[in-house]
Amino acid sequence: MAVTFSPVEALELFCRFCEKVTPCQLDRSIAGNGRTIDKNSTFEYYCTKCFKTACFSGNDLLEQLKTAPKKEPPREYTPHAHYCIGERIHHKKFKEGGLIVSKDSGTPSRILVLFDKAGLKKLVQDI
Ligand SMILES: [Zn+2]
Repeated sequence: MAVTFSPVEALELFCRFCEKVTPCQLDRSIAGNGRTIDKNSTFEYYCTKCFKTACFSGNDLLEQLKTAPKKEPPREYTPHAHYCIGERIHHKKFKEGGLIVSKDSGTPSRILVLFDKAGLKKLVQDI
């Protein structure tokens, strides 16, 4: 299954120096095969609290988000609502739940959701 993976600039990641989840900024993306950025690529993020850099593979990023503590039952997706990275939502059309793995700050803002069967989908929020 071909899944494109394009992390956004800002992600909340566990910083091993701060020993907590902190807002991190993407420093650079290193393509595994020298051409395309995908889940197997390496992404260098720096922590905005301590400014130390850490490397994550796309798979690591997804794993880390998957194992993040779940707080509430998934909300039903609607483009009018505001969502957080790491939150699980349920999508009526796909008939399944998905995990928000990243977001961007466009107009409207979009969230990148990893669905169990449908794969990665970009959805709008805050309309
Ligand atoms: Zn840190």
